[in-house]
Amino acid sequence: MDNCIFCKIANGEIPSATLYEDDDFRVILDLGPASKGHSLILPKTHAANIYKLPDELAAKVMILAKKMATKMTDALGCDGFNLVQNNGEIAGQTVFHFHMHLIPRYQGDNVKLGWTPGTLTDEDKEDILSKLNQ
Ligand code: AMP
Ligand code: ZN
Repeated sequence: MDNCIFCKIANGEIPSATLYEDDDFRVILDLGPASKGHSLILPKTHAANIYKLPDELAAKVMILAKKMATKMTDALGCDGFNLVQNNGEIAGQTVFHFHMHLIPRYQGDNVKLGWTPGTLTDEDKEDILSKLNQ
């Protein structure tokens, strides 16, 4: 993708604060961090979102997320960790090149992620189960 900023960053055409790099991915510090150490895993090949991500990279990205979470927790001394991955504008995606957020969490950090829990109705449950279990 010619005009994709994360393609350019992932492939080193635009400099970034890089924590890790291999043949498939680059891990960079987010420029608008939710917390100290907030980083992004970027695949080097363009995929707009999880729907477009090849299975092989989808598998590798979770292994890398685990590796980075472990390393960052040791190095930064955080108390917990969120993995966040947004797909589509309604879900909060603003850059349309797949990326996984690595968000270290610290006691009292006041980072806000989340939702107000609703109630699983019988109607929704039946509807969803009938649509998914085919
Ligand atoms: P999302 O809302 O899931 O699409 O996340 C996009 C993330 O990319 C945000 O957390 C931004 O702060 C971050 N971001 C956007 N542009 C850059 C950039 N040039 N370098 C590093 N992070 C960026
Ligand atoms: Zn891209």
